[in-house]
Amino acid sequence: MSSVFDDLVGQEHIIEVLKGAVAASRTSSDSQEMTHAWVFTGPPGSGRSSAAVAFAQALICPNQGCGACNECQSAATGGHPDVEVIRTEGLSIKVEEIRELLTRVAWAPSMGGWRVVVMEDADRLTESAANALLKAIEEPGTRTVWLLCAPTLHDVLPTIRSRCRHLQLRTPSIDAVTQVLIKRDNIAPTMADFAARVSQGHIGRARYLATNESVRSNRKVIMQLPLQLGSLAAAFHAAQSLIDLATDEASTSSESRDEKEIEKLQEAYGKGATGRGMATGAAKAVKELEKEQKSRATRMVRDSIDGALLDLATFYRDVMMVQMGVSESLINSDMRSEIDGYASSSSSHSVVQKMSAILEARQRLFMNAALLVTCEALMCRLAKP
Ligand SMILES: [Zn+2]
Repeated sequence: MSSVFDDLVGQEHIIEVLKGAVAASRTSSDSQEMTHAWVFTGPPGSGRSSAAVAFAQALICPNQGCGACNECQSAATGGHPDVEVIRTEGLSIKVEEIRELLTRVAWAPSMGGWRVVVMEDADRLTESAANALLKAIEEPGTRTVWLLCAPTLHDVLPTIRSRCRHLQLRTPSIDAVTQVLIKRDNIAPTMADFAARVSQGHIGRARYLATNESVRSNRKVIMQLPLQLGSLAAAFHAAQSLIDLATDEASTSSESRDEKEIEKLQEAYGKGATGRGMATGAAKAVKELEKEQKSRATRMVRDSIDGALLDLATFYRDVMMVQMGVSESLINSDMRSEIDGYASSSSSHSVVQKMSAILEARQRLFMNAALLVTCEALMCRLAKP
């Protein structure tokens, strides 16, 4: 029989724990027996939020997570009254948002089982938001289960993480990702192998790349950048291209969604309504939504640049492997001759410095540094011989 856990690639160690918890939640009617707060951690792409959502489905499904029933499907698409998935579009989750969430989940679960809240970016909780959440987690006898996701345990405030059961996801092997792409998504083996390899076990990214021609061609342009840094002018040019490509990727996926959201909001207020209070209310709500959309767009561009920097790092990683004489497992085996050429014309010391330059740039962007300046500084360092 298929189950919601089938989609979690390479996470057998966690699936066992989750299945056990689901089974235990059925046999005992005492809510004290259930662990009410969990933290799912793992590197980007390991599927921490997919694991949390699968667990939520299994908790409310009459068949412990069949994936096919009404409960399972509505939970996955955000239509189940007892399952709430919090996705953050902004850079932080504020205390007002948590307070609002807490009033929403205050009542008993409608189906008499569990109410499950999945929070995809628990690392973005502000301190006051985390404290508000803490009170809810500590409340005894509740039927609410909290599933928090974060890159590492250190990204979650100590007060919260000390009250949670921790599950650590692994990066799935390239082979496992390839197999999933072939079997589940019907992707041709050569393409699946390429996408899995360059995505480094990031399954979502691998699928996106394998099914999206324009993303693949953008990546190709980015991977050529290290070979084009002959002068300072070229470095500045490369920085601008990097930002343009990232903005392009981010905006194609968000524009139509933005419009739809505004339309929906206007409909909710009654489009064309003439009552004065109505009109100001709608205008204010649209303004707020636009503000949110802007912050989401900023975040998407930043995420997209971060992805591009990770891609660039794989180039230097491969160069380093060739310089060390370990060249069987190149990530970018399609760029073999370029990598060989670069390896023989540069010192291993400079390659290591370039990799750390990329790491520093990622950290700076994570701390909200200005995009263009950071990318320019990085490209200048990558341009050094
Ligand atoms: Zn089900």
